[in-house]
Amino acid sequence: MMISRVDDRVLFNIPKVELHCHLELAYRPSTMKLWAVEDGDLQEGCSDEEFKTKYMVLSPMIDLPTVLQKFLVTRDRIKSIERIEQLAFEACEDMYIISNVRILELRYAPSFVLEVFPELGADKLHEAIVRGCARAETKYPMAVGLICVLQRVKSVSENEYWADFAIERKGEILGLDLADDEVNYPPDVFAHIFQKAKSKGLGITVHAGEPSLPQAPRNIITSIEKLGSDRIGHGVQSIHDHKVIDILIETGIPLELCPTSNVLTKAVDRIESHPLAELMDLGVRTTINSDDPGVMGISLMTEYDKAHNTLGLSLKQLELCNRWAAHASFICKEKKEKVWPL
Ligand SMILES: [Zn+2]
Repeated sequence: MMISRVDDRVLFNIPKVELHCHLELAYRPSTMKLWAVEDGDLQEGCSDEEFKTKYMVLSPMIDLPTVLQKFLVTRDRIKSIERIEQLAFEACEDMYIISNVRILELRYAPSFVLEVFPELGADKLHEAIVRGCARAETKYPMAVGLICVLQRVKSVSENEYWADFAIERKGEILGLDLADDEVNYPPDVFAHIFQKAKSKGLGITVHAGEPSLPQAPRNIITSIEKLGSDRIGHGVQSIHDHKVIDILIETGIPLELCPTSNVLTKAVDRIESHPLAELMDLGVRTTINSDDPGVMGISLMTEYDKAHNTLGLSLKQLELCNRWAAHASFICKEKKEKVWPL
């Protein structure tokens, strides 16, 4: 295939939708470095290299614990309400300024932050995030929505609690997600929680079919049939299973694909073998997302550059991904219409 390199400006000019981004890992690196120095975790005047070594995942992970350690050290820095509000505002601002994102969904796991800083309180944590996003929406022509992430490593009863937390804040929280270790924690046991959230009007998206596992196709099917998933987080392994592909085409359920993340977590061998283009050619609704831009040192622009210049998606195909993403976004139509030609 002939791949033409286009100017970054052309890619930037495409108005974008970001559906899959974890707020806790979507920090602005310069801010995170500042916090690390303030907290004494890094020395005053430390180099960017030192910061990257300790905080960022820039090459395919050697093992999961190494990556998790970087997530944990990041979490240790988001310890005050002021920082959390700043984190949310800057995540939105960078999406607009760097990548021309107009519709943005950020997801966060209250259980993840509160596990180490329970004194913050769930309400204050949530309100700080809402304030940060609202500030960005006032300043830029963008619509921002929140998704509550449940951690599959936590118990069913704890996740029932957080699902109710999300349901009570419907409007500010638009959807429910299930994330974390897919290897050891299948989605089935959480089905009733997601069914309840869905019946109360929340959108459902589930991380499924991300790592290369024998049960990956089954996890995608379970997420759709038992958890009521409206979208699938990653689902990159669907390419290996015709039955899953057929279901995705029949239902029109979109995949939230995150190319760089899939390489760094070794869900795919290398960027050239990412199935984004192939899935799209098969008729699956694909969307392009950044997952963890802060910790992975990327922006959504990086993903568009790879999608276009490495994977060969045409500008028209990139626009189609955005159209599908805008349609699949849990943000209400009225709010989307203000920033997006639906
Ligand atoms: Zn994710």
